[in-house]
Amino acid sequence: MNYTASPDLLSDRIILVTGAGSGIGRQAALSYAAHGATVLLLGRTVTNLERCYDEIIKANCPEPAIIPLDLTDLTHPGSESLVGLKASITEKYGRLDGLLHNAAILGERVPFEHYNLAQWAGVMQVNFNAAVILTQALLGLLKKSDAASLIFTSSGVGATPRAYWGAYSVSKYALEGFAKLLSDELTTTSSVRVNILNPGATRTAMRAAAFPAENPLSLKSAEQLMSLYLYLMGDDSKSEHGKTFNATAV
Ligand code: NDP
Repeated sequence: MNYTASPDLLSDRIILVTGAGSGIGRQAALSYAAHGATVLLLGRTVTNLERCYDEIIKANCPEPAIIPLDLTDLTHPGSESLVGLKASITEKYGRLDGLLHNAAILGERVPFEHYNLAQWAGVMQVNFNAAVILTQALLGLLKKSDAASLIFTSSGVGATPRAYWGAYSVSKYALEGFAKLLSDELTTTSSVRVNILNPGATRTAMRAAAFPAENPLSLKSAEQLMSLYLYLMGDDSKSEHGKTFNATAV
């Protein structure tokens, strides 16, 4: 795909990015803001979110909002933080035009027999359960948009589960199934489109933790992925539903 986003692609759009304080999520937030969006920066480390907020303001982009939320705690739909989040988006913006599910944790990579099951549950919580709960809470706001884009971030080990990758692989596999189910439900009944994005090997803290011996400079940067992230978030991808996009192919 050879795609160049127009500078005002996301003008007046309200877009929430999870894990917006660092890694690919931070870069997506900066890129969406640079193309006109008001970005809601959700994440667990407030100092990282504040840094991203400052960068967006410094670049003279629309003022973002910070949503401090640890997805580990998002275990039920009635949680105070979730109810508050929904109410504040409703009050301030009245709708949501985009939701990028990006936050994730890696967990350990060991034979399943030795996998710590408390850690397994923790990975499933952040990577999968929280995404389901957040999606359900925000679906009504997404439906209020004339063309909303819902993006789930997967991985190569989500399409094909891989030995020793444990809960991370299973969580991404589940996420892909959920995204396809949701796409099937929403395509004909709403203006919300749902797609899956696999960024592929990218120079971030997560990749360095998974492959410590690798030279990070041999990998593409998060910035180099942004044409695909913009394409899927903006109206140029309005006709895309239930598909998986691999950044390596861009
Ligand atoms: P990073 O580890 O660099 O960033 C992960 C982000 O998720 C951080 O902003 C982190 O916040 C946030 N996060 C983690 N746990 C929580 C939590 N409990 N609550 C809220 N936010 C949380 O990862 P990447 O940027 O590399 O990965 C981004 C996405 O891309 C992930 O879904 C990953 O699975 C996927 N991916 C990445 C690949 C790669 O090579 N990098 C390859 C394939 C897929 P904090 O600021 O606190 O750290």
